[in-house]
Amino acid sequence: MKKSMIFILVFLLTISQWSINLSAQAAGFTDVPSRVKKEVNYLSGGGIVKGSSNTSFNPHQAITRTEAVTLIGRALQLNGTQRKTVFSDVGTGNYASGFIQSSVDKKIITNSLSGVSAGQFYPNKEVTRGEMAIMIANAFGYSYNGTTSGAAKELMDRGIASGTASGTFGGNLTIKRADFAVFLARAINPTFRTKQSVSFSKVLWTSADNLNIRTGPSTSFASQGKIAKNVKVSGAHSVGDWIYVKTGNTVGFVSASYLRSTSLGTASPEKPSASPDSSLSGQTIILDPGHGGTDPGAIGFGLREKDVVLSTGLKINNLLKKTPFKVKMTRSSDVFVSVNARPDFAIKNKGNVFVSIHANAASASANGTETFYYAAAANPYVSDSKLLALKIQTRMTDAWNLNNRGVKSGNYGVLRENNMPAALAELGFITNKSDNDKLKSDYWQTAAAKAIYLGILDYYKAKGYEVDSLYSIAK
Ligand SMILES: [Zn+2]
Repeated sequence: MKKSMIFILVFLLTISQWSINLSAQAAGFTDVPSRVKKEVNYLSGGGIVKGSSNTSFNPHQAITRTEAVTLIGRALQLNGTQRKTVFSDVGTGNYASGFIQSSVDKKIITNSLSGVSAGQFYPNKEVTRGEMAIMIANAFGYSYNGTTSGAAKELMDRGIASGTASGTFGGNLTIKRADFAVFLARAINPTFRTKQSVSFSKVLWTSADNLNIRTGPSTSFASQGKIAKNVKVSGAHSVGDWIYVKTGNTVGFVSASYLRSTSLGTASPEKPSASPDSSLSGQTIILDPGHGGTDPGAIGFGLREKDVVLSTGLKINNLLKKTPFKVKMTRSSDVFVSVNARPDFAIKNKGNVFVSIHANAASASANGTETFYYAAAANPYVSDSKLLALKIQTRMTDAWNLNNRGVKSGNYGVLRENNMPAALAELGFITNKSDNDKLKSDYWQTAAAKAIYLGILDYYKAKGYEVDSLYSIAK
């Protein structure tokens, strides 16, 4: 068997769904040279680099395109679900097909890589330094002129990569797994860079209490402290949906869902350019993340419903804040709100649309997405509530692709006691392993938030409002 074939097999075993995530024993690799140990341990701790069961990292192996894209995909929390790609040499069965296609969608893989313009990815091709520079520059949003030397200059300017001993960048040289890990760690976290190159030029405010500031851009990375709500922080670059921020003496990553670019009480400056129906500004959307505080909601596999629905609700709130709609949340932190207080809040705030967010629970086999409305004859908003539920259900099942349990009528207090079109979305079953995997994932929570946002737009569109320019906010 060729060496490269053995390596591919080892790697397949490593990141297949049966792999053992060695993040708990980040320092457990026995073959990592000390010069790259802290970077490899960093990526391993965040679940970006995963070891094989024999604790080998294979640092001196050249990295393949498939491996490089997988590491970048994990770092940015791209959608890694295996699926069809644009490449004739990457089938759905390729373990990295999801990350490869996401990297095409995000313009990380571009025609600058050989073969791509002809529809070939060459998944096992060893990555050159030049290709690495292009992929990293694209993944981290550096603006450059599209050439390898332009991308290389961006990496060198930031202290992510240096030239070779011969004084050139060595764009045609292949790159080892250890070195790729170092470049990726430096791109993510400036503390690994060879020079100070980070500028905290964005002014941001936190929108949630007890916000973790983490060492890396996902919840897999350790928290190094908490930030209170409505605190001003300075922001630098983004990695996926996370932003590198500074507050006091603490520097680290915070989820962008919990940051906003405006101080409390001022309007968002990010209004869409095309002008939507001006009457939308008279519409108030009430978002109602279920449970909270002493009421955890349903629990499955250690995941609490109250956390999932709050996180998702805050993400919907962030999307709606970029529109002319007014948006209010029945809770925006981990507090208890009674069932009756929720419609009371909606009515008091003159809500026009009410969306409650929940996760389902039942036996382990029950699974899927469903959306409820209240169908009693006394409710003057039955048809609008059903329309709203249907629009949300359609977008949710498109986005999550779980079992479509449909739109149903349900006698829930938050719907029954309301006096506006109201729907209750059950995103999935927290008690079902594969639904739970989506519920707990920041990526899929973002996808759900976008789906519910789009469902609300679809509802308004069906009611004759001009909302077309607002769809791109969820892109
Ligand atoms: Zn619930």
